[in-house]
Amino acid sequence: VVLVKELMSRDVLKISESASVAELTSILTQHRITGMPVLDNKGKLVGVVSEYDVIDRKGKAVADIMSRKLITIGGNAPIGEAAKLFVQHRIRRVPVLDGEKMIGIISRSDIVRFFATRQWQCGACGFTDRGFEPPSPCPSCGAAANKFKLTQAPPGM
Ligand SMILES: [Zn+2]
Repeated sequence: VVLVKELMSRDVLKISESASVAELTSILTQHRITGMPVLDNKGKLVGVVSEYDVIDRKGKAVADIMSRKLITIGGNAPIGEAAKLFVQHRIRRVPVLDGEKMIGIISRSDIVRFFATRQWQCGACGFTDRGFEPPSPCPSCGAAANKFKLTQAPPGM
């Protein structure tokens, strides 16, 4: 099973809830990102803010327009759980927490990259498959899931 912390980005841009919306839009534009986690002055995650909030809501500070509804995931959760959150809530990224502390961000593109570059390979017969978890049993030779290893997928397949 692949864990969220193995695929997440650790180097995450964050913004303070007291920052101005002008500051926010300039960071979003400069870094070509569509949203960011919002921290309070103690460094605790209190919300997320996206391009959508900039367009849809009025206010001078990030705290006025950010979304306080937090959808988060633990670093030790299986990656399939993150995928479910993206689909269920139609969101692009989810802050990853270790207890109260934000340790990274997992995004839809992290998962797409995973599918593009990694595959499960059966150690017994060589059968390969893509997915969050290895097939169980191997559809080709019947080997158990623990015979499968994550390997580099050939490009363009
Ligand atoms: Zn096999």
